[in-house]
Amino acid sequence: MKRKERRCDNCRTALALRRYCRACSLKASALYKRNERQQAKARGESYWLDWWTKVYGTAALLNRREYQRRYMRAYRQRKRKRREGMAA
Ligand SMILES: [Zn+2]
Repeated sequence: MKRKERRCDNCRTALALRRYCRACSLKASALYKRNERQQAKARGESYWLDWWTKVYGTAALLNRREYQRRYMRAYRQRKRKRREGMAA
């Protein structure tokens, strides 16, 4: 009996060792956490709100939005820089 070949759950191209291929195994923990975040968002849970409220009180939502804005701005900058670096 031949063992069924399995594709990686993340990239879907490489053969999986168990769930992920060799390259994606390194990201397994990050992938798991991302999945948990996405599921919480789909359920409409703001599990992070408790932590933010502890620090910022009633300004928690405002502060988190500001944090996310800054984070995404930096993320896009990093991405742009990486793209330019590749082109050069
Ligand atoms: Zn993979």
